[in-house]
Amino acid sequence: MNYPALFNPIKLGPFVLPNRIIMGSMHTNLEEAGAAGVAALAAFYGERARLGVSLMVTGGYSPNLEGRMKAGPGYLNSRAQLAEHRPVTDAVHAAGGHLLLQILHSGRYGMHDDIVAPSAIRAPISRTVPRELSDADIRRTIADYARCAELAVAAGYDGVEIMGSEGYLLSQFAAGCTNHREDDWGGALENRIRFAVEVVRAVRAALGPERLLVFRHSILDLIDGGLEWHETVTMAQAIAAAGADVLSTGVGWHESPVPTVQQSVPPALFTGAVGRLRRELNIPVAASNRINTPEAAESVLTRGDADLVALARPFLADPAFVHKARGGRADTIIPCIACNQACLDHYFTGATVSCMVNPRAGHEDSLSTERVQNPRKVAVVGAGPAGLAAALAAAQSGHRVTLFEAADQAGGQFRLAARVPGKEDYARVISAYLALFAEAGGELRTGCRADAESLADEGFESVILASGIRPRQPDIPGIDHPRVTGYEALLSGRAKAGQQVAIIGAGGIGFDVAAWLLGQHPASGLEAYLARWRQGGQAPAPKRRIWMLKRSKGPFGKTLGKTTGWVLRRELAETGIHQLDDVEYVRIDDAGLHYRRDGEASCLRVDTIVVCSGQEAEQALAAALTARGVPTRLIGGAARAGELDATRAFAEGLAAGRAVSAQA
Ligand code: NAP
Ligand code: SF4
Repeated sequence: MNYPALFNPIKLGPFVLPNRIIMGSMHTNLEEAGAAGVAALAAFYGERARLGVSLMVTGGYSPNLEGRMKAGPGYLNSRAQLAEHRPVTDAVHAAGGHLLLQILHSGRYGMHDDIVAPSAIRAPISRTVPRELSDADIRRTIADYARCAELAVAAGYDGVEIMGSEGYLLSQFAAGCTNHREDDWGGALENRIRFAVEVVRAVRAALGPERLLVFRHSILDLIDGGLEWHETVTMAQAIAAAGADVLSTGVGWHESPVPTVQQSVPPALFTGAVGRLRRELNIPVAASNRINTPEAAESVLTRGDADLVALARPFLADPAFVHKARGGRADTIIPCIACNQACLDHYFTGATVSCMVNPRAGHEDSLSTERVQNPRKVAVVGAGPAGLAAALAAAQSGHRVTLFEAADQAGGQFRLAARVPGKEDYARVISAYLALFAEAGGELRTGCRADAESLADEGFESVILASGIRPRQPDIPGIDHPRVTGYEALLSGRAKAGQQVAIIGAGGIGFDVAAWLLGQHPASGLEAYLARWRQGGQAPAPKRRIWMLKRSKGPFGKTLGKTTGWVLRRELAETGIHQLDDVEYVRIDDAGLHYRRDGEASCLRVDTIVVCSGQEAEQALAAALTARGVPTRLIGGAARAGELDATRAFAEGLAAGRAVSAQA
């Protein structure tokens, strides 16, 4: 059998699961939509249950108003709300799955005015000082947890997960740095963990023995003043004794300076620590964070690090993860690449959480996968992200699709990105799309530059033009000097960089190129990784001297992702990259790159100048096709290079592939 450890059944509380995979909690923003989000949530969880996920956890619901993440209806404390949950639990049960409601009290992390905490200490990532909970407030909050659990049972959930990790209220009580109380709820460890223990006892009593109680426990707080290891173990043992069936481990508080979910985090980095904790407990333990393949999950289990794996974002990227792993089709699993661009970043903008590489995620109710009645002969030109997504969606809809790629390999800008340290999984996205496309009967022609005449001659009834972009050539005297290279030539290995490099342009690609030039692969091993990223940690010595330049005035990296940009900015700043804003490029010659800044003329005496100054749309074919009367739709960078962004490219590809029949 494929992955025998992963598909070894396990008894958890009252249930026997056919596999060791939990779909961990992900906030989708649909929780905040109240009744309007119900159909989408039911479709989201129902589809994953149908595709073999046996145990899932919802996004966090607060047990009361103070504990909400946002000022919206993301809480469960009255019977009147049950109607918003029933369709979701029914959909999961109809598909044979189990669903737990996550109870999450955000404490001082709440993004509204009425936030509370054990002590009135503002979180570094928040603007608001929380109100200190009184003893009576604390007892009321425990009762609210129990009431929420009771309501969860009434709504049909199979149990609850109590969020006791990532720096939310329960963590805030447990850690001395956020709990300065001098009553029974603060001081010694026994007092600091009392709140979590009492919550577990009350919830256990409310659930009864027929429902599952999972506790999400912080394995490593990764903040100054967080729990020591022996305290983490003591707390876990107390939680198990209080009635938790499973301990699911989380890593790092949200205010931690250590990246825990970004691309710089090596796969399965934290599971060794989970294994240490597991040996101290007598209940099953789940591991999480950066486990994004069945192979990695299988290794975690066979090493004995955990009894279960809790994967979250991988189920956004591919709802069929379990189904494909079990069926020997792991090569078709679209992997989560830890970009956060359409999931965590969407959460903070209020958009529905989705996935860059699977834009259907979160929209399963509105984006159908039905096959069309009137299949067409379709050409998709360009096999970058937009073209791959369009070709796959069209082929899976039943159309006869040929995907043309001028280069000798598919992938476009994504294939280049895969060369950047931490982005290696981008290549697996391409190969999974191609495998699925082949499964759906599509034909790929690489090394084949499509032209209007041959497309018309071959009788294509529809053309989706995803021909991408060409890098912008800035208008600087000497730009064709031999020491100037484009980012594509550099990343693909056609050009070499010297020891002193200037980068023209500081967008996402400028940052990627800087990271590539530094050549820093993620530190291996947990200790080395933590030493690198904790406060005062040392970045490795850079391989080269690098300057990044831009014409606009102001900080660098403002356009990078909200939940990932800080890691890249810190990485580059700590490795001593020189950043020059507000420059005017003067010329390039044998001496180097001449520029003017603050009225002063200077020259960077570099051996290599890399141009990363954005893109222009490659749409030459569009007019010729239209002239021949072939229905043509432009998508991705070919449509709007100025806002080129892979999330938009995949989404436009999916939409175009599904809309072929409607195309004029
Ligand atoms: P970009 O984000 O538009 O940045 C282009 C850079 O080139 C800017 O720094 C701009 O700065 C400069 N520039 C523009 N026109 C110029 C000209 N005529 N002469 C000289 N400099 C010029 O484009 P990109 O870096 O190519 O990225 C493309 C897309 O991919 C973006 O949407 C980006 O967000 C995305 N991406 C994101 C990431 C990530 O988030 N990690 C990584 C890769 C790509 P000045 O105008 O100030 O000079
Ligand atoms: Fe993973 Fe990126 Fe998709 Fe989020 S948007 S689930 S990080 S691939």
